[in-house]
Amino acid sequence: MMELYELGVREIVEGIREKRFSALEVFDECLGRALACEGKVSALITATADTGRAHARQIDGYVAKGEPLGPLAGVPVILKDNICTHGIRTTAGSRILGRWAPPYSATVWDLLSSAGAVLLGKSNMDEFAMGNTCGTSAFGPTANPWDVSRVPGGSSGGSAASVAAGYVPFALGSDTGGSIRQPASYCGIFGLKPTYGLVSRYGLIAYGSSLDQIGPFTRSVEDMELIMHVLARHDPKDSTSVDKSEIDFTRRESKGEKPLKGKRVALVKEFQDFTLDPPIADAIKRLIRIFEEMGAEIAQVSLPTVARYAVACYYAIAASEAHTNLARFDGVRYGYTVTTAAGLRDMFEEVRSKGFGAEVKSRIIAGTCLTEPVRSEEYYVAATRVRTLIAEEFRKAFENVDCILQPVTPSLPGKIGESDEDAMKGYESDLYTLPVNMAGLPGFSFCTGYSDSGLPVGLQLVGPRWSDKNLLNMGFELEKVLGAPKIARGGN
Ligand code: GLN
Repeated sequence: MMELYELGVREIVEGIREKRFSALEVFDECLGRALACEGKVSALITATADTGRAHARQIDGYVAKGEPLGPLAGVPVILKDNICTHGIRTTAGSRILGRWAPPYSATVWDLLSSAGAVLLGKSNMDEFAMGNTCGTSAFGPTANPWDVSRVPGGSSGGSAASVAAGYVPFALGSDTGGSIRQPASYCGIFGLKPTYGLVSRYGLIAYGSSLDQIGPFTRSVEDMELIMHVLARHDPKDSTSVDKSEIDFTRRESKGEKPLKGKRVALVKEFQDFTLDPPIADAIKRLIRIFEEMGAEIAQVSLPTVARYAVACYYAIAASEAHTNLARFDGVRYGYTVTTAAGLRDMFEEVRSKGFGAEVKSRIIAGTCLTEPVRSEEYYVAATRVRTLIAEEFRKAFENVDCILQPVTPSLPGKIGESDEDAMKGYESDLYTLPVNMAGLPGFSFCTGYSDSGLPVGLQLVGPRWSDKNLLNMGFELEKVLGAPKIARGGN
């Protein structure tokens, strides 16, 4: 017998409709699982037990009365803590937001709650989504539920860890340069960074506005399609949102023995010169064979500008946008403030000195320098020009292939504390994820299996703009061969 917390989105929705169990039972089992793991994993900043239970009871009321139910009725969810939830503390992993409770909700949370999803908590993250370990959070680190001495990845590490450990069947994160795909890979689950513009970012606390995108974590591809079906909606409140209602995420065509016949899957020529941890290199070789067996043709594309300049350009652009976006945290409008300062200027200085952590400060300082009038042409503007070349390089590559198969990270998750020591190494490890954001493309991270040491080994599929559903279709076929991600022990 499976425990209720082990069920996926579709199974929960069906079970509640068929009255095999109630929404409250599901919620309480998931909450129980979360509490059993939290001591070791620390994936949550806030647990929303009371409001969640009330919402679950309300869903059970609809079931009892035979009223229509939303497509996610009774499914528990965790949101990254940079996604605004009306009346519920939202911190972005920072001290500067203090106990700030937003007066409005992000569109994604409006969509999910109208579909019947029930909030279980807000997850830990690198401060303002800057980092790739969860180690820059003002609330302390989160642990990888597969090995609690290791990092879960970041910045959406809490969301990934909570899905991997079975707190919830799905969670949302945000991805500016890899923050969904990298923790999904470290925690052994599915993570999708949708095409820029497909999912509304209204109510997401902005980091790099031209790069940020919200997306889901799940333990099955089918569940991911159910979530995307709810989230991929045009939002007039987000000027970058695009109407793509023609994409039907729930459509499934029955495929024969060679389900990927006619598909061309490419490897990146330049990436083959870089070293990978052996389990990741082996996974690529194995996946090539699997793709071939499924009828796909393996090709090669060349992305020289990406390989050489993407990391430097990304960090220049992300820091420049971050310094603008974070200017609003001044102690007047949000959360943390001081009352002892001599004047306004002193107050700004004190609030920002005490409220922001070291990584955020270094990005704000870098962004301030890079965009200074005397320097911006040479740095910020130059980086945006290279970005155009990067997008063009991908566009050309996708004239001949359907998707690219590539690593998510060069290595498996490191020990907590260790990976924070060498910031530059951390930045470079983002090479495989951040070009995808620079070009606004979809990237899909999936678990290929486990290393001898029991750590998940993830890889990534990248496609042209709006090919999100195609990536998931391939993911669906891969899941049949590779098996669904398992639930981690979560320190138990
Ligand atoms: N690690 C990258 C950064 O720190 C990406 C983070 C993200 O995607 N939010 O900027």
